[in-house]
Amino acid sequence: MTDLQIARNVRLKPITEIAEKLGVPTDSLEPYGKYKAKMPVSLIDSEKLAQSNLILVSAISPTPAGEGKTTMSIGLTEGLNRLGKKATVVLREPSLGPVFGIKGGATGGGYSQVLPMEDINLHFTGDFAAIEKAHNLLSALIDNNIQSKTASLGLDPRTISWKRVIDMNDRSLRHIIVGLGGTSSGIPRETGFDITAASEIMAILCLAENLSDLKKRLGNIFVGYTFDRQPIYVRDLKAEGAMAALLKQAIQPNLVQTMEGNPAIIHGGPFANIAQGTNSVIATRMGMTFSDFTVTEAGFGFDLGAEKFFDIKCQSAGLSPKAVVLTTTVRALKYHGGASLDALTIPDVDALKNGLPNLEKHVENIKRFNVTPIIAVNQFTSDTEAEFDVLRSAAEKMGVAIAIANVWGKGGEGALDLASKVVEIVAETTEPFTPLYDWESPVKEKIETIATKIYGAEHVDYSYQAKRDLKKIQDLGLEKLAICIAKTQKSLSDNPKLLGRPKDFIITVREIEIAAGAGFLIPITGSIMRMPGLPAHPASERIDIDDDGNISGLF
Ligand code: ADP
Ligand code: MG
Repeated sequence: MTDLQIARNVRLKPITEIAEKLGVPTDSLEPYGKYKAKMPVSLIDSEKLAQSNLILVSAISPTPAGEGKTTMSIGLTEGLNRLGKKATVVLREPSLGPVFGIKGGATGGGYSQVLPMEDINLHFTGDFAAIEKAHNLLSALIDNNIQSKTASLGLDPRTISWKRVIDMNDRSLRHIIVGLGGTSSGIPRETGFDITAASEIMAILCLAENLSDLKKRLGNIFVGYTFDRQPIYVRDLKAEGAMAALLKQAIQPNLVQTMEGNPAIIHGGPFANIAQGTNSVIATRMGMTFSDFTVTEAGFGFDLGAEKFFDIKCQSAGLSPKAVVLTTTVRALKYHGGASLDALTIPDVDALKNGLPNLEKHVENIKRFNVTPIIAVNQFTSDTEAEFDVLRSAAEKMGVAIAIANVWGKGGEGALDLASKVVEIVAETTEPFTPLYDWESPVKEKIETIATKIYGAEHVDYSYQAKRDLKKIQDLGLEKLAICIAKTQKSLSDNPKLLGRPKDFIITVREIEIAAGAGFLIPITGSIMRMPGLPAHPASERIDIDDDGNISGLF
């Protein structure tokens, strides 16, 4: 059965019933149809959330074989609920680009899914559309200001890094010229489109605490320089009020349900390379306000998404996870150990052993944050007991708990062992996490700390452009911002071909972008894609809708 067929066999509960189970007063809920609802930010209670246990689900370095963090997060939440704990899963919203492209949706898989999966994967409650509008409003205001004879701030069009966004994989929009058509149609300049998930507004919405913090962050977005080198921020264009107004609903988290009828909160979807890669602070706090266990996911491997989760999100919002679930698969480790993609279903204990150093490095990295890891093996049908034994003894050697979890095949029942081990770890955790670096440190020191300690690099090289950017950051007085390194997810290094646990490599920073509204600097390593393309045969070719409105082909 496909994910969609499994999902459709579940009888959905009305969203008011899910809200009641969570303890949310139903009259404060803003229903979007029968099975989705917005939760007002005012429901967040800082005293109640301080009592909740936050669990972060992360993974080893991703491979084309797929690791299943979202699926694991959902399955673990079902398992915790089966143990009688009040648990909620808090996740990111899918982007339409991957839904129609290669990767597909982001609502879990098999018997661990969030529902209604068609709605969540297609438009959902319109948050991405609102973010796109707020982003493009600013783009329009910038070009309008350049055109204006009386209100011009003197922006030098060549210094503007703010582009336009659309939630679609559309490579032909990467580089465009706007303002063609004569004097009444603007000043021609080169710009382009990014996908909405890559918008700084997405990063901002997901770090904002409330509407006034949102507005302040929007106002801090760096736009570019005037011809006489004065920096221009969004507040200089007086745009933050209107932009925030467009985000009035989008700032509220969305309540839906898991397959086993437990609450799921889904909100925001920033990338995990150029942004913090995890759902909104508001959604996490909402989950924690109403549940004893809040399970959340950070994008890509621990080196990318989870480092940012700790050093950007948790530092900014004062959160502290009580355990990290490191999602691992036999298949992915075999791939890291040199097995080819088409041989991953063949039992291969040697390749698996060769791949273990990748797992070990991520475990070491988790411990660096003073948080206890637990390895969750996401079971695939091709896995063998002999391979599990290799993982069990590796975990024992590292002194780390391990659970084989068949969440894809069995839902919460497949996660009972994992859930009870997580509960044990949480009960023993009394101290908050230790951040990797201090935001107050010099920019280069912060970058080097992440590169050497987390990635395992020998040292960091800076290009001529990156050195100029460091000077620019200093001149703008933005050195105290957090660091959000954009790096390939495929390797611990900045070279996607180096699998396993690469050693003696150098990280090269090409340039450093400024996301002053979100509150971080983005050192760019390698080539980073902000507007993906579609494959020759996109997933959209198989997506359809019948006369009764039933959608097919989503996965
Ligand atoms: P991530 O969050 O790490 O990107 P997902 O949980 O979204 O990964 O899973 C990626 C894809 O892999 C999904 O289509 C999901 O259905 C599939 N998948 C996950 N776990 C399993 C499993 N154990 N067996 C088969 N397919 C799985
Ligand atoms: Mg995911």
